[in-house]
Amino acid sequence: MSDLNRRDPRLAWILRNRLHPRHGELSGQPTRGPTGLLRKNPRPQWQYGPSGVRRLDRLQRGAAAGVSRLSVNKRHEQPALPVHRVGEPQAYIAVWLQTSGGRLTPHCKDVLGQAQQLAVAREEPTAVLGVLCGELKDPVDGAGIDRLLQVNGEAYDGYQPEAWTTLCTQVDAALQPLCWLLPDSGTSAELGRRLGVNLGERPATGVWKIDADTVLARNGAGNLDISRPRSRVMLLLEECALPCGEFRYEVRPMTLTLTAPTGTRLEDLGPVAVDPAEIPLAEAEFILAAGNGVRDWPQFHRAASVLGASEGASRVAVDDGFMPRNRQVGATGTWVSARVYIAVGISGAVQHLQGISKCEQVIAINRDADCDMVKRANLTAIGDSGDILAALLQLVATRATREVSDAA
Ligand SMILES: Cc1cc2nc3c(=O)[nH]c(=O)nc-3n(C[C@H](O)[C@H](O)[C@H](O)COP(=O)(O)OP(=O)(O)OC[C@H]3O[C@@H](n4cnc5c(N)ncnc54)[C@H](O)[C@@H]3O)c2cc1C
Repeated sequence: MSDLNRRDPRLAWILRNRLHPRHGELSGQPTRGPTGLLRKNPRPQWQYGPSGVRRLDRLQRGAAAGVSRLSVNKRHEQPALPVHRVGEPQAYIAVWLQTSGGRLTPHCKDVLGQAQQLAVAREEPTAVLGVLCGELKDPVDGAGIDRLLQVNGEAYDGYQPEAWTTLCTQVDAALQPLCWLLPDSGTSAELGRRLGVNLGERPATGVWKIDADTVLARNGAGNLDISRPRSRVMLLLEECALPCGEFRYEVRPMTLTLTAPTGTRLEDLGPVAVDPAEIPLAEAEFILAAGNGVRDWPQFHRAASVLGASEGASRVAVDDGFMPRNRQVGATGTWVSARVYIAVGISGAVQHLQGISKCEQVIAINRDADCDMVKRANLTAIGDSGDILAALLQLVATRATREVSDAA
């Protein structure tokens, strides 16, 4: 009996469950296979990210050093990365820093990753210069910025494509960067095209691969890849490169003497209040989605309304008639790209996970700590959906009361 090699089901469960407090500690260790042989996972460091791209999991390295991977408090205790320095740059690669709510967008981080690849491939010291109008809320030392030119002022606030183009043109004249890289999305897509006109360059748009002399650009409504010569202004698609992650970068501030932009200033009248329920799911930034684990539907709708979230649903919730078909998220529903996606009582079937692969932050509310949605989520609340939503509503009500009394 004692000669039998037995697998420890508890250990196997911990290894499958990324949220277990001992997961990090145990996952790096060799485990006993079905034949009794000790086996070491040859791919302990790699994970597949939401977009299907293989990424190095740095927290796993932390685990090897005895740091629990998913302990939120300890996330910042990762081993310090080496600093990447460019002493006296002989050349610059300029990147327009696209932000959302004061934070670099994931698209911009991919572009910075591409810029660093181009910079390190050169023989002479080349710095990645980030050009930014506005404020940054989070530290960006991991993003790949060697030099930062940050410009603030009313002339550049809000949506000011003409002022931004003038700024970039002045930077171009002063520093003569080798090329300009911009995310081909949102306002930076427009800026890139304007900058191309100003610099007399034909911009390369929809670029997803940059070779020595040529680029591959996606065109023809996304069905065609065109190889064309490199341009000094290149607009890059998302996932053109992996974001930086090997180093901390200096982010050394730069100053330039700039003349204030002249010309038409667009007056930003601020965001228009919209009913979150009216926003098409594909465009919604904040989604509260319900699945088969929701029991109290009026409470769910109340929570969405109080939080100002657009409502989404799993197919089961739709098939059961609790939510309209146009709110279904997933492979056969809508593919969403919200900044925050809260999944209430959704198990995380593969068809549903496909639909949320582009979401930035996923929060799972579920009774089952082992379900796939919990594995996908950045943050999890384990418990009954009704209880957790009730606590959330209570919290919002308390905050609102406190704000009213503070204001009085
Ligand atoms: C061809 C095909 C296409 C499909 N396309 C889609 C699609 O586009 N979108 C989609 O969503 N699905 C799709 N599905 C269905 C999909 O496979 C799943 O069946 C579905 O996503 C499951 O929905 P669910 O997670 O809400 O329900 P369940 O799988 O039943 O999960 C319910 C979850 O709620 C939790 N729970 C239960 N009670 C509570 C409680 N009181 N408090 C908290 N948590 C609780 C459970 O732990 C569980 O995790 C498709 C299926 C097929 C075959």
